[in-house]
Amino acid sequence: MIYISQVLTYTLYMRKTIQTSVVQEELMQLGHATNRELWIAVEKRIPGITLTSIHRITQRLRKLETISCTPNLNGDGIIDANPLPHSHFMCRTCGNLTDIQLDKATVQSIQAQLHEGVVEDNMVIAGTCQSCVYR
Ligand SMILES: [Zn+2]
Ligand SMILES: [Zn+2]
Repeated sequence: MIYISQVLTYTLYMRKTIQTSVVQEELMQLGHATNRELWIAVEKRIPGITLTSIHRITQRLRKLETISCTPNLNGDGIIDANPLPHSHFMCRTCGNLTDIQLDKATVQSIQAQLHEGVVEDNMVIAGTCQSCVYR
């Protein structure tokens, strides 16, 4: 015999699981997105889902290190589908982020110029992306 509370718990659990996988799928598509951008994408598939739910899901996924978060040059918290440490190229025109890997020598060279200053592992380098150059 299954109790109503068990059914309810199971239903809530299933809903949470489905919401989480849709968030992950949409983030994979977007690559980088604010919680709000992610919400707009997810809302098309799960009508009525709140921005607070998106925040909660991305926070949980960050704790699990399934995804990461990076600030862009505008100070927005960007949810990143790539959980591994990496740097970013940010387009000043469209704001898009592209994952880049800086080689050790480059990082060391920047570090040397800062003396006692400390560079972060995830640097943001700015410019104009390919699609904006040809726009
Ligand atoms: Zn661009
Ligand atoms: Zn990234």
